[in-house]
Amino acid sequence: MFLIFDTETTGLPKRDNAPVSEVDNWPRVVQIAWQLHDDNGDLSEHNNLLIQPDGFEVPYSAEKIHGISTERARKHGLPLVEALQQFNESVLKSTFLVGHNIRFDINALGAEFIRSGVATEFLEKKQVCTMRSSTDHLKLPGGRGGKFKPPKLMELYELLFEEQFMEAHNAAADVEATARCFFELLRKKIISPESLELNQEQYSRFISKNQGKIGSYGLEHQSNLEEESEKEVSPTNLSAEPTPEKPVDARFCHLHVHTQYSILDGAASIPEILKKAVDDGMRAVAITDHGNMFGAKEFHAEAAKRGIKPILGCEAYIARRERHSKKDKNQDGFAHIVLLAKNHKGYQNLITMISLGWTEGFYYKPRIDRDLLEKYHEGIICLSACLGGEIPQAIMHRSVEEAEKIALEYQRIFGEDFYLELMRHRTDDPGMNKLVFDDQVFVNRTLLELGGKLGIKCLATNDTHFVNREDAEAHDHLICLNTGKDLDDPTRMKYTRQEWFKTQAEMKEVFSDHPDVLNNTLEVAGKIEQYELNANPVMPYFPLPEGFSNEDEYLKHITYEGASKRYPEITEEVRERIDFELGTIQRMGFPGYFLIVQDFISAAREMGVSVGPGRGSAAGSAVAYCLGITDIDPIRYDLLFERFLNPDRISMPDIDIDFDEDGRDEVLKWVVKKYGHDRVAHIIGPWRPKWPSGMWPGSRSFHCRKPTGLPNWFRNDPAPPLRKLSRKFPV
Ligand SMILES: [Zn+2]
Ligand SMILES: [Zn+2]
Repeated sequence: MFLIFDTETTGLPKRDNAPVSEVDNWPRVVQIAWQLHDDNGDLSEHNNLLIQPDGFEVPYSAEKIHGISTERARKHGLPLVEALQQFNESVLKSTFLVGHNIRFDINALGAEFIRSGVATEFLEKKQVCTMRSSTDHLKLPGGRGGKFKPPKLMELYELLFEEQFMEAHNAAADVEATARCFFELLRKKIISPESLELNQEQYSRFISKNQGKIGSYGLEHQSNLEEESEKEVSPTNLSAEPTPEKPVDARFCHLHVHTQYSILDGAASIPEILKKAVDDGMRAVAITDHGNMFGAKEFHAEAAKRGIKPILGCEAYIARRERHSKKDKNQDGFAHIVLLAKNHKGYQNLITMISLGWTEGFYYKPRIDRDLLEKYHEGIICLSACLGGEIPQAIMHRSVEEAEKIALEYQRIFGEDFYLELMRHRTDDPGMNKLVFDDQVFVNRTLLELGGKLGIKCLATNDTHFVNREDAEAHDHLICLNTGKDLDDPTRMKYTRQEWFKTQAEMKEVFSDHPDVLNNTLEVAGKIEQYELNANPVMPYFPLPEGFSNEDEYLKHITYEGASKRYPEITEEVRERIDFELGTIQRMGFPGYFLIVQDFISAAREMGVSVGPGRGSAAGSAVAYCLGITDIDPIRYDLLFERFLNPDRISMPDIDIDFDEDGRDEVLKWVVKKYGHDRVAHIIGPWRPKWPSGMWPGSRSFHCRKPTGLPNWFRNDPAPPLRKLSRKFPV
């Protein structure tokens, strides 16, 4: 006897590979459906039970998939023990348990047996998984680690029966489809009769009874989503939020904006955003890139130029557990959180947190955590972020109570500087609305309720990723490019195309029923103080060898030591030049800088790493030449020192140094070891593709083949004629 079964649950496990005995890891079961078949494939029993949720709620995201709400399961379900006992009667009659991705159902249901204490042989039964048994046979591309992808039930069904399988949103219908797939796989010997302990005679009997493709068992299954006509509000018909037509009196500014510095998915240039904000009469605008603040300086300077108030912030990643925990992709995942600096103290706290996110909390993303918020919250305004925020995630996947708990925690930390973010990315595409807007509507409703109950203000944002509406297409390509996907890949990451920098009028249209949430953005902008970002440089400290009391003295000593090797005779001219340079370096406070640079360059030479002769304005320094930082004699070639360091124009010296490719890493390690890992940093140099270099990556998402042997005109011509290009990039 084969017991084919399926469950509907409250969601996914925390860890896929946890043992069944860790019952808290596994979701709760809200529906079990099963069919019992004999060795000939004949159906002998079938059943379908809803289970009453006891002590838990069915989260919104699970209800959206299977259509079983908490109320409905309470009304029509059986108590857990009773449902398990009924199921157990069929388990007792069976030899094999059959399911599609059966490991999940075994664990979810197994955990229910353990919780309820109902004695069963369920966990000891032999198992057959239609998903695993068919993976190698179907050879679907795209599995993990270059393996074949395990088929979804729908895919397997369609490949075996060459007919559409409408997703039924009902465990009973899935069981029926699994049963047909299972016996069809057996008929085709993709599942071997031996593995099912069927002897030759039994298998022949099965084949004679099932000459053609396995047909349906004639049972009717109604979709859970349609079943309940009296159902109050189903998630899918929530799209119709009221949006009255009359114009509203409100003002708005953007507090959630991704620029080009959101490396994966930001396409908005900072000057263009600020220009649009100024043209639209906004008084302030925020920058909130993903996990970094690379754009802060540029944004701050551009805003000052245009007379608009900059709000420096970040859409940070907050670790589900804590930032040091990096064991499990699910449990050590992250949620989004928007943090805005209110004043200079807040800015310093914010950059401290974000830096620690990178250096201590990096696990897939740079993650901060609750502990850092507790320590560094001063001067920071916190917003609850998009659907990826902790509170929206709790609302969708867990429960309102949990969301409330998190909101209370944020409120305790940030007080009146904590706001709940409402987003409405409504589109004309029903499929896309189902993915995002419906969820936003559901989440917004709960956020408004929570806000009212806890006294937390709500405000409107638009998750901005590009400047104008018509940039959506280009933004879409950028995402393909950055995720290495093709434009026509159905599984790729897609945005709603509503992520442009909307004007105040456009935002008023979107939130016409809630002028208060628009105006609350101005309240936040009003709390932001203006402050200066520039600070005096903090010069590094160079450990002096014995016998020297300060850096100036030591620098002079080794410069003259070098000079005696570089020049056959230290003439008046050479001495004058060196003394002038040393005086300038000393006055400007840079001796330590020169000492450190010569220190690692001589270390590199000792390690056998090739060092470039020096380039740029540093070649104009005789001190650099004497110290071995450069290899060109500026006196002989009449190169000006003032181009490198000018006492009238205070700026940091900048020496470009080239190490050979292989040795570079060694030198870096040496520097980190000598000066400490907290005193050495890589700096970012953002690359903005120009026409020729952007052409090839940009064409990949269209399946263009890479051209070979690019001619020179292509590299050099800033705009090669399209006709020539299309020959080079065959589609
Ligand atoms: Zn987000
Ligand atoms: Zn965002």
